[in-house]
Amino acid sequence: MTAVSLEDVTFAYGEQPAVQDVSLDVEEGDFLGLIGPNGSGKTTLLHLMLGLLSPDSGRIELFERPVDEFEAGERIGYVSQQATNRGGTMPVTVREAVTMGRFAHVGHGRIRDADREIVDEALETVGIANLADRQVNQLSGGQRQRAYIARAIASEADLLALDEPTVGVDAESRDAFYQLLESLNDSGITIILIEHDIGVVTDRADRIACINTELFHHGDTESFVESDALTEAYGATGQVVHHHH
Ligand code: ADP
Ligand code: MG
Repeated sequence: MTAVSLEDVTFAYGEQPAVQDVSLDVEEGDFLGLIGPNGSGKTTLLHLMLGLLSPDSGRIELFERPVDEFEAGERIGYVSQQATNRGGTMPVTVREAVTMGRFAHVGHGRIRDADREIVDEALETVGIANLADRQVNQLSGGQRQRAYIARAIASEADLLALDEPTVGVDAESRDAFYQLLESLNDSGITIILIEHDIGVVTDRADRIACINTELFHHGDTESFVESDALTEAYGATGQVVHHHH
């Protein structure tokens, strides 16, 4: 099944399109790295994919249904750029934040033991069961990422979309975090990852979409590495970030 399908999608906030004529399919089980220079339309494209913005023209489907038919939270776990950068200021514990992942299924106030078990399992999966009673805004960057992922797991998301999730996270936590993403992907969850560090993306993702308003490349990581898409898309901006182990 196709998880996300974009056909000739164009979107502008004002005069200049932020995303232009983008067509691409993300298949279920893909681990897609979405890359491009600063301001190249990555976040905008992700918002379009998830139905948070409506395109000016073109067609978008999620799991082979028009994206505007989707309920908030249905099948999708989204970790926004703001969430991870600012960490959220809501005074909630990790367990409460992860429990919110169940609301899409049962609604407020209808949390049962079975839901609590799913929450506990999600906390175990990401390795933060010991932090369940801590406030989210007291966590380190790396721990906070895990809390957001746990919420997505608890919601039984089929698609996990992450916008620069490791900004401000130390290298060691970041490696562990990407290992977690890989194992979630191995268990069948489709992943779309925006990441400014090209080295990380080519190490971890099996497919790459490279954009700068328009799509410069979409295909497997190997064909991306062998192509000129990177220099073409980043061209004059010279903002390529290479990660060295
Ligand atoms: P990226 O995530 O690749 O850094 P964005 O999708 O955030 O890029 O932004 C793409 C372009 O759209 C940029 O030129 C940015 O300034 C502009 N943009 C982003 N969000 C808004 C907004 N809410 N209103 C107006 N322009 C915006
Ligand atoms: Mg962005």
